[in-house]
Amino acid sequence: MVIMIVKNRAVNQTNFKNKKIGFLATGTELITGELLNTNSQIMADSLLQHGIKIGEHVLVDDDQDNIQDAFRFLLEKNDCVISTGGLGPTSDDLTREALAQLLNLNLIFNPTSWERILTRLNNSGRYPTGAIPMSNKKQAYFPEHSKIIPNLNGTADACEISCEINSQNKIIYLLPGPPKECLPIFSEIILPSLLNNNFGSDQKLYRWRLQGVSEAQMAELLELELKKYNLIFGYRAHSPYLDIKLNLSPSAELEEILNLVEKLVGPYWIK
Ligand code: AMP
Ligand code: MG
Repeated sequence: MVIMIVKNRAVNQTNFKNKKIGFLATGTELITGELLNTNSQIMADSLLQHGIKIGEHVLVDDDQDNIQDAFRFLLEKNDCVISTGGLGPTSDDLTREALAQLLNLNLIFNPTSWERILTRLNNSGRYPTGAIPMSNKKQAYFPEHSKIIPNLNGTADACEISCEINSQNKIIYLLPGPPKECLPIFSEIILPSLLNNNFGSDQKLYRWRLQGVSEAQMAELLELELKKYNLIFGYRAHSPYLDIKLNLSPSAELEEILNLVEKLVGPYWIK
């Protein structure tokens, strides 16, 4: 893997059209089943609504080597990786260390971030002034050349890192784990930035909800009747319903395809 860090942010104005986003969720509690990974699910669903392609999702425990392996895998397969978790003050919060190690970057202290952490903790009333645990200082360190994204709902700021891996532009976001912290950063900063970087595709998701027909029956019918269009249908059976999904780009055949699908699903379609 040949890695180059993008230091000049202007280089980042690449056209990422039709590119994919991968998700990393770190935390041993996710592996053991103690906690459900809702972060990646909510972000992926939101990206899909904006026509952005989703790649792989990886869950990994709080082990630095495992986190590093997960980043390597996701960065080879995707153009952007969004990670959540592991930015806390404790020794099992290792996301920043793992990424810095993979990209061969130093972790650099950011005084603005530290000031913000101190103000937040002093205002929390949890500590007498001057008794802030120094373990929190770890949260003010970021891989060099990161763009820091302030966290308005917690102490762990997020960051964005641009790099080139095997001559491909990549963007990495490290976000805190708690949903009330990472999801506002995602919707207010990351999603607009991805759209700005042209991550969206021209595809639109079409979905039909059916009742009274089996997945196998419907698949056989649709795939036979629409064979010539080479479509990839998605099916989701969730009793008593069956959802049929198609991702389609604008084309001369679009209207024809939609009319044909609607004719075939018609008898079972719940509008
Ligand atoms: P961490 O920053 O990894 O220590 O995570 C702090 C807390 O954020 C966890 O204890 C969970 O309550 C929550 N959290 C972390 N990751 C996720 C996730 N993928 N989905 C939902 N909640 C999460
Ligand atoms: Mg943790």
